[in-house]
Amino acid sequence: MLGASLNELESILRAKDETLSIKTGALMSRYTTLHLGGPADMMVSPTTSEQIRLLLTEAKRLNIPVTIVGNGSNLLVRDGGIRGLVIRMCRDMQAVEVSGDRIRVEAGAMMSTLAMAAAESHLGGMTFASGIPGTVGGGAYMNAGAYGGEMSHVVTLVEGFNMNGEPFRYGRPDMKFAHRTSRLMKENKLITHVTVQLPQGKREELLAEMVEFNRRRAEKQPLTMFSAGSTFKRPPEGYASQMVDECGLKGYTIGGAQVSEKHAGFLVNRGGTAADFLALMAHVQKVVYEQKGVMLQPEVKILGEDAGVAEV
Ligand SMILES: Cc1cc2nc3c(=O)[nH]c(=O)nc-3n(C[C@H](O)[C@H](O)[C@H](O)COP(=O)(O)OP(=O)(O)OC[C@H]3O[C@@H](n4cnc5c(N)ncnc54)[C@H](O)[C@@H]3O)c2cc1C
Repeated sequence: MLGASLNELESILRAKDETLSIKTGALMSRYTTLHLGGPADMMVSPTTSEQIRLLLTEAKRLNIPVTIVGNGSNLLVRDGGIRGLVIRMCRDMQAVEVSGDRIRVEAGAMMSTLAMAAAESHLGGMTFASGIPGTVGGGAYMNAGAYGGEMSHVVTLVEGFNMNGEPFRYGRPDMKFAHRTSRLMKENKLITHVTVQLPQGKREELLAEMVEFNRRRAEKQPLTMFSAGSTFKRPPEGYASQMVDECGLKGYTIGGAQVSEKHAGFLVNRGGTAADFLALMAHVQKVVYEQKGVMLQPEVKILGEDAGVAEV
């Protein structure tokens, strides 16, 4: 049933817009920084808002589930992959428009691109984003942040489409930003543009601050290993990484998944499966709960299906 609908969707898309990049069965492990995840039934990387509207309206009409991904730097995709249509918003839509103290960016631009564009325009407030390896769309959705800055401090407008292909515009208060979360986590909507408003800054100082933040990051984080950054959210009781460390879990391994030796907040993939990673997450949650009385909540977004019996 879904297979027939996907075939119909592919024929319609190819007939209406031959420039669309459509991939069938693309392994999500190639599109996530954890390098985990089975195949997506269909993956499309749109380059215009018109293409996005076409994708959403046709998927809706054909009753095909839609999953939106950015750079996959906060995703754990299960080994069975993702059913339906995956819309990948990464680098294909990345225009940056600077106008006075505002910058309007397409959602596929990287956070580092926005940070650099701001510094080059003598605008501050974005240096925190220079080492976050995600897109601006993913950053607004997650309220990404670091070193005291986060998207909620700078975003003034988020634009995009709902799953019917109808446009929406949310100002900062509408976004209901909180720690690593926004209203969009409860609503299935696709971000196409983000506008930030920034204070004046000095280019040289901003560039130097970004270098310093990235130096600190490289010193503390396992950046040469496959990860999705901090696996768990910061709980109200303290720091997840400190709790995991105090429970003696640094280096703890299940299959190919390991609690980083360098930073206990990062779980890393050393050549295992999503099932290993999920088992390690569950183990860490259990031990921290037993020893600290705190149930850590995942920061990574878990998508897709477990591998079927035939694939095990
Ligand atoms: C080494 C490393 C360091 C990191 N450091 C930090 C850090 O310091 N601070 C921090 O906050 N995070 C950090 N992260 C996590 C991650 O980079 C951020 O959460 C980032 O904002 C995710 O963006 P993305 O484009 O990769 O989104 P993805 O991981 O692809 O998606 C994340 C979520 O956003 C949604 N989404 C993505 N794009 C859109 C869109 N256009 N419209 C609607 N929804 C969308 C997806 O559906 C998904 O639910 C780190 C990750 C790594 C690997």
